[in-house]
Amino acid sequence: MAARVIDGRVLADQIDRETMSMLSRAAIPGARPSLAVITIGSDAASDSYSRQKEKVASRLNIGYRNIVKDENSEEDEIIAAVDELAADGQVDGVLVHTPMPSRLDERRILDRIPQMKDVDCASTYNRGRLYSGKPLHAPATAQAVVEMLVRSGFSPAGKHVVVLGRSLVVGKPLANLLMMKSAGGDATVTVCHSKTVDVRAFTRRADILVSALGRPSYVTRDMVSPGTVVVDVGINSIPDPSTKSGYRIVGDVDYEGVSEVASAITPVPGGVGPVTTSVLMKNVARAYLSRQDLLHN
Ligand code: NAP
Repeated sequence: MAARVIDGRVLADQIDRETMSMLSRAAIPGARPSLAVITIGSDAASDSYSRQKEKVASRLNIGYRNIVKDENSEEDEIIAAVDELAADGQVDGVLVHTPMPSRLDERRILDRIPQMKDVDCASTYNRGRLYSGKPLHAPATAQAVVEMLVRSGFSPAGKHVVVLGRSLVVGKPLANLLMMKSAGGDATVTVCHSKTVDVRAFTRRADILVSALGRPSYVTRDMVSPGTVVVDVGINSIPDPSTKSGYRIVGDVDYEGVSEVASAITPVPGGVGPVTTSVLMKNVARAYLSRQDLLHN
């Protein structure tokens, strides 16, 4: 039987409605939340992420500013830009796109974002809070995975969740969210990475399998046991001469093959991506309400 499709666009709309309702209950004439993003260098992928965020922000009446710095910018220039946003009383959320060029000290830059404005949980302080079970803002992509599972009726509690990937951006924070003693957590988590021997032996024992590798079609049908819920975080661009751009976006999962054995699956595009943006905007709204001292939930 074909897997049930977990539609990220539908869930993103649901989250957006909650954000709008949260903001409308605390409307202040002339004021609105605002997100500022710093992008170092520019390419098709970062432009597309930025446009996506801008579209959702505009729908939610959240101010959005994308500050594009030259890819050869000095580290101190980036730090100065972050500091300016940190001090700006009208900015609620600050995000610096990663990965940054390797000559820059990513940690030093991310750690300049004040905790309440760190809406993607990138700073060491906020990571520490997450790892100690008390996140201030949950990292958007990892939280998006949890939201997709819970909102689709696949609570991770008591389940064996296998996460492929241990990056600081996705795999590691996701494993922590899934282990938390709270709603959306309470899972038994296995994390696999490039040094894991026989990944398939782990994936076949998963109730829920989340792939965050960045490897097109890595997860094949034979790696998945019947009934597994599969969440594909991967966003990979592969050549496709039949498209106008010459490429197309695929996930880490061989969607066609895995759909035949999984009980549910997220598509790419239209899966984790849109939910991530909506979770991020909800975090911005919460930061704004907290600034106004109006955050009650
Ligand atoms: P990353 O920093 O490159 O990390 C990839 C992880 O996968 C690493 O832990 C790596 O292991 C592991 N890995 C790579 N090849 C492997 C293999 N053959 N077998 C087992 N493990 C392997 O990537 P990332 O930033 O976490 O992103 C992962 C994917 O998610 C990318 O496609 C990215 O575009 C996508 N993404 C999507 C969203 C969204 O909103 N949907 C957000 C962020 C990222 P080692 O640690 O041992 O190297």
